[in-house]
Amino acid sequence: MLLRHTTAKEIDRKALTINPAKTCQPVGAMYAALGFHGCLPHSHGSQGCCSYHRSALSRHFREPIMAGTSSFSEGSSVFGGQANLVQAIDVMFTVYNPEIIAIHTTCLSETIGDDMTAIIAKAKEDGHIPEGKNVIYCNTPSYVGTHVTGYSNMVASFVKNFATPTPKKRNVVNLVAGWMEPSDNAEIKRLASVMEARTILFPDMSGVLDAPLNGHYKMYPDGGTSLTDMKLSGDSKFTIGLGPTTTADACIKMENKCKIKFEVLDIPIGFKATDRFLMTLSRHANLPIPEKLSDERGQLIDLIADSAKYLYGKRVALWGDPDTLVPLTEFLVSMDMKPVYIVTGTQSPYFNDRMAEILKDIPEAKFMSGERADMFRMHQWIKQQGVDLLIGNTYGKYIARDEDIPFVRFGFPITDRPGHNYFAKTGYQGAANLVKQIMDAILDKIDRTCPEEKVEFQF
Ligand code: SF4
Repeated sequence: MLLRHTTAKEIDRKALTINPAKTCQPVGAMYAALGFHGCLPHSHGSQGCCSYHRSALSRHFREPIMAGTSSFSEGSSVFGGQANLVQAIDVMFTVYNPEIIAIHTTCLSETIGDDMTAIIAKAKEDGHIPEGKNVIYCNTPSYVGTHVTGYSNMVASFVKNFATPTPKKRNVVNLVAGWMEPSDNAEIKRLASVMEARTILFPDMSGVLDAPLNGHYKMYPDGGTSLTDMKLSGDSKFTIGLGPTTTADACIKMENKCKIKFEVLDIPIGFKATDRFLMTLSRHANLPIPEKLSDERGQLIDLIADSAKYLYGKRVALWGDPDTLVPLTEFLVSMDMKPVYIVTGTQSPYFNDRMAEILKDIPEAKFMSGERADMFRMHQWIKQQGVDLLIGNTYGKYIARDEDIPFVRFGFPITDRPGHNYFAKTGYQGAANLVKQIMDAILDKIDRTCPEEKVEFQF
């Protein structure tokens, strides 16, 4: 019993988080920056911060995560990090030759109050930024917000710095990707290409954090949104944000800067959210939804119908990020499952409002967002009344083991299983992948624990 001290009795906590369902802002900023081709993320703070951000991503993706650090010493902690950052910019362009350096701040540089605009201007003035190269930044003080906030801030910074409007709009729809796996970015591009819609997806982790192992190391893998596309995004005729907490800010900046109208949708997880995404894209690209995608939807519905008797009424506990939990919960409800406990460490009115709406017919459901919505609380709820299934990141592993509950890994981080970056959860095929994982977990437990005379070959 790894979590033997968790009690069923809840005590009101105001200043204590136990096993948070979140991580720090710069992790998200670093992840977002990796979705742009030729971009080298840079952490303006101590080496320890940068090591943590890189290792959090490396452990999840099992890929090398390259990033620079301003490597603060006692001196920079007192007098500010300008000298370190200017030197770092110089070294990075000289040795690693990125197209873009995307800087995020840390708790320490934010507390010192380093003026990033002034430092970057000074670096440019002193000739440390070569012609045609770019240095951008976003603020990511980690004593507020979470990795989700950091992701959102970095994506918005790319829009602010690169999207360039010209008088002529093109028949292209921008797709701003919320926090998802590279496989999900690839699936969204595939859905758009099946529709023959012209789109620009950013950020795009496909081809970066799922790059092939072929014996040739590339500092900047082939994938990622190109700088040219990012500039052209200012001429698109519409923007669709996928995930309100991670993309709304970028969409607003795009509208303000380039006069492009936008709509922010849920990430297309499950058939309802995928329907909404495809119908919105169809409307703004002025293209019909092809039969191929209707067939994929039909296959998903067939799979759900085949699985229905095992899914019906199953109580589920979930944890993760608002943008993925909302459509995932909607998907579970649409399959007649009962998501009863849902927590996210990211404070989110979107999460609170949508959950209230989605769970209105499940009176026993409890959900919570913010710092006190932690894994400890969710475990306490499970102790009070158990669940049949857990869906979330690796941090639920101890609960799954202690309570012997089937566990589907989903979200960030997943550090104890490989392959999640290759299999999409978005679109109809991604939803089918999810149903298969859920069914495997449920049926494995039945096969393992049912009486011998009940063991079946046919489910
Ligand atoms: S929480 Fe702050 S100090 Fe800790 S790793 Fe993140 S940025 Fe660094």
